[in-house]
Amino acid sequence: MILKFMARQCRVCGFPWLISNVMSWNDNGTITIVMQPEMRAVILHQGFVDTLFTEIGARLGVSIEHIAFEAQRNAAKEVFDSTFNMIPGMRFALRFKQVKRFSVRYFNLVASNCGLCHSDVVDYKIAESGVSRITNPFYMPMLAANVVGAFEAMEHVPYKAEWEKSGPDTYMLRVEQTEEKPEIAQRMDLHIEPPLPGKGRLESCSHCRAPRGLSHLEWKPDDGMIIDSRTKSRVLLLDGHMVGAVFREIRRELGDEVDELLMDAQRQWTIAHASLLGLTPTTEPLSPEKLSKAYDEYLSLLPLHGHGNPVSFKNEDGGIELVVENPYDPFILAGTIKGLYEALENTTSYVSREEVMPGVSKFVLKPA
Ligand SMILES: [Zn+2]
Repeated sequence: MILKFMARQCRVCGFPWLISNVMSWNDNGTITIVMQPEMRAVILHQGFVDTLFTEIGARLGVSIEHIAFEAQRNAAKEVFDSTFNMIPGMRFALRFKQVKRFSVRYFNLVASNCGLCHSDVVDYKIAESGVSRITNPFYMPMLAANVVGAFEAMEHVPYKAEWEKSGPDTYMLRVEQTEEKPEIAQRMDLHIEPPLPGKGRLESCSHCRAPRGLSHLEWKPDDGMIIDSRTKSRVLLLDGHMVGAVFREIRRELGDEVDELLMDAQRQWTIAHASLLGLTPTTEPLSPEKLSKAYDEYLSLLPLHGHGNPVSFKNEDGGIELVVENPYDPFILAGTIKGLYEALENTTSYVSREEVMPGVSKFVLKPA
């Protein structure tokens, strides 16, 4: 009954009730979890997540999947721990089997509303193991890490996961309690910095207060997917700390060259994305008016996606200068700006990035 209530969608804009109540789109370029305001969330395109783990791993010559798994496990545990801790009496209530069963169904609802997957519980042995049929996972290793983190928050003991494909986009996922986490998990704590305040303003739905700028998102909780109706591509709502934790660890092992790879993966993806949105020039260069409109349109997505707040933008002498407060990840953002500049101006470029003060990044782009 409660879950049915939580699963409803806004009759005006279609936004899931759970998302508009649990998450907050702020005036400082961030999306945060209402009950834990320092915990950021971001909207990412599935294509980006794919590139991140497959292409970068291939270019580095090592798999980074296990690192991503550990970071995502910690992030999911943090999110669900805070949810349990903030509800009065919840920790005590979690001693009861019915409450645990309810919590597992709540995990499934969160996953489907965030566009991560659709999940049906097939078998659940309390304080022992669980088996779910997972359909349309955004990326199976990361999805499994989310489930492991959620169970660890509920039971306060380590879990492990294994899965096998059972059909097209369908997997049987089994999680069970285990003795201890791998050694690497201890290093993957999230690096959470309080964001700066902001003055941005997002128009919101009069009925549910979700941002109207995201009206192009098509929410399909029954399929466990969110589709960007303009590009027909799939997007996800994911915690905003996993990527940073993964790349901190990879940087520790492999050095700073990973930052260039991260930036370049995002640059390539942004060029394709700007083209899908119809913003890029075809035969003629864009007129100054169209160019300015295209920059505005793309940069206005940053706060809606929780990637930061663009507070100053200059387009002079063939280059651009952009200042962003609370960037989600400065290297990813550098890739976004570089890709956008190259797509709109039809040129290759050189980007420089400077942290003007903590939480404020300045990007300067020039033709290469
Ligand atoms: Zn609404």
